[in-house]
Amino acid sequence: MSIPKNNYTYPTTNFIDRVCTPLMNFADVAEMFRVLESTEARLEMTSVIVNFLKTVPRDELRDVIYIIQGKLHPDFYQVEFGMADKLVLKAISLTTGVPYEVIENTWTKIGDSGEVAEKLIKEKKQITLFSETLSVARVVKNLKLIEICEGKESQMLKTKYLASMLHDSGPIEAKYLCRIVTGKMRTGASIMTILDAIAITFATKEERSEIERAFNITCDSGLVAETLAKNGMRGIRAISVRIGNPIKVMLAERLSSLSEIIEKMGGTCAVEYKYDGIRAQIHISGNYVKIFSRRLEDLTDNFPDIAKSLISHFRGKEVIVEGECVAISAKTGHIQSFQDIAHRRRKYNINETIKDIPVRIFLFDMLYLDGIDLTSKPYFERRKLIEEWFNIAGIVQMSCMKIIHSTEEAERFFNDAIKERCEGIIAKSTKNESVYRAGSRGFLWIKYKKDYCGNFIDSFDLVVVGAFYGMGRRAGKYGALLMASYDSKSGRYGTVCKLGTGFDDNFLDNLPNLLNEYKSNEKPHLLDAKIIPDIWFQPGIVLEVVGAEVTISPNHAAGMNVIKEGSGIGIRFPRFTGRVRYDKEPEQSTTVSEMIKMYNMQFTDFDLTT
Ligand code: ATP
Repeated sequence: MSIPKNNYTYPTTNFIDRVCTPLMNFADVAEMFRVLESTEARLEMTSVIVNFLKTVPRDELRDVIYIIQGKLHPDFYQVEFGMADKLVLKAISLTTGVPYEVIENTWTKIGDSGEVAEKLIKEKKQITLFSETLSVARVVKNLKLIEICEGKESQMLKTKYLASMLHDSGPIEAKYLCRIVTGKMRTGASIMTILDAIAITFATKEERSEIERAFNITCDSGLVAETLAKNGMRGIRAISVRIGNPIKVMLAERLSSLSEIIEKMGGTCAVEYKYDGIRAQIHISGNYVKIFSRRLEDLTDNFPDIAKSLISHFRGKEVIVEGECVAISAKTGHIQSFQDIAHRRRKYNINETIKDIPVRIFLFDMLYLDGIDLTSKPYFERRKLIEEWFNIAGIVQMSCMKIIHSTEEAERFFNDAIKERCEGIIAKSTKNESVYRAGSRGFLWIKYKKDYCGNFIDSFDLVVVGAFYGMGRRAGKYGALLMASYDSKSGRYGTVCKLGTGFDDNFLDNLPNLLNEYKSNEKPHLLDAKIIPDIWFQPGIVLEVVGAEVTISPNHAAGMNVIKEGSGIGIRFPRFTGRVRYDKEPEQSTTVSEMIKMYNMQFTDFDLTT
């Protein structure tokens, strides 16, 4: 699979050869990180970043925007520094001369290699005074070297490159360098806060939505910031959908009855099966193919059969399509459970997995075709193009769709979907304005799932932020978890429930492994909680949970004061469904405003027809 000619190349990929004029000092970036980490409110965070961005030389803006997020590239450019804490401790030892064992002891107590570096470099600097200034350009260059190290000597080389930067770092710079290479930035600045800051620094508040759209169709904050700073809004408006840059996916709203859905859609709409699999966005250009997950991971190697089929079934030159990848029984051809398709996320033994777990992709949208951005075209037009440009056969299928005009028709379609082992249905607007809204959840798509008909109102995707030690049968393990929901307005997390049911022994045994890298010595900076668990975790792992009811809760902090003064919202009788949402970032968990909507929805009947 080759890279297409028009694939975007990042300036950061060739900066090793670039002659860098050191313009900005990394100390300025580190100082901004320090202030950011002690700031809790989103507005204040934004103004910290704005004040900082004003001082960044234009030529370094793009690199700096990535560095603010602890990276060298946009999120979807999947490369890592590959440095675990212990390797970082070796670099600290090399720089400070403190024996490794002593450093490891300090790290065991503190738990954050960044803080260990800060402490020891502070002590060292009191003895040796001389060092060179560390420029952003040099940091970027060395990080790039760390990133591309391969082979037998790679560990030694990575340690050396980090140590050379630590040698010329002050304590604060050292702290954040170590956090960057271990992937644990923890400053709490979300991408939305960074986009706010970019808009305020280089444009006006009114232009924020156009800037966000440019980001949503490219997923590249560095490109957006650089274009805006250099070419203004004209440049932003010229940014278009492109092969190789994933587009942020469109999401569905929910309503509690089919009749409400039909009414909201104006009496008629399309309904599609809601398949329970893995969402895939596929970019094809000639023989180049890339499959992105909704979390922007590269899934191409997990689904080589789908990648190959899509290329051979496509009749044009370039396309971006979306669909749901689902496991199929080799014997019966029936759709299998989500657990089966989830095996495909593990890359080992992919050839055997292809045989054991055959898959199909049910295509449901087309976003780009041979140079034309289709995201502003209506639903029917986009859907028709899929059928015209793909040979629908074998692995490549269309999502099952029907146009309906009544609740009864919707009900029949819903029952068929459940019989076909789908999760439910998605109603899609067929009006002229039924565009593809990248990165947004709105009423152009409305989902209706079988969960809504039982005792549980819906599933929630919640973030693990704490754990309680178990007792009795669970002694020595985690017995329950503290779960939180994300508030997209404030950019903070708030707890919503203590989760202790739905775990099997196997899952409980594996929980420490799953959560270990998120362990935190203190309450995460961006979390609001009234309950104190035995162990805190940084937001990282998302679990699917069902619950009987969204309630008002004085013990939980999410949605504080929104429904009732002095209370937040909670979930009654939460139960883990067994599904870890590896496909979701913590910020993509069920939001506080969705939970508040669910709270209000409870006061309407959960009935198919009323
Ligand atoms: P859920 O946990 O219910 O999947 P979600 O937050 O992941 O919720 P929603 O916007 O609520 O996403 O539902 C849309 C999801 O449903 C898509 O991300 C996609 O993976 C899946 N899906 C399955 N079939 C379809 C379809 N025909 N059209 C659109 N999305 C579909």
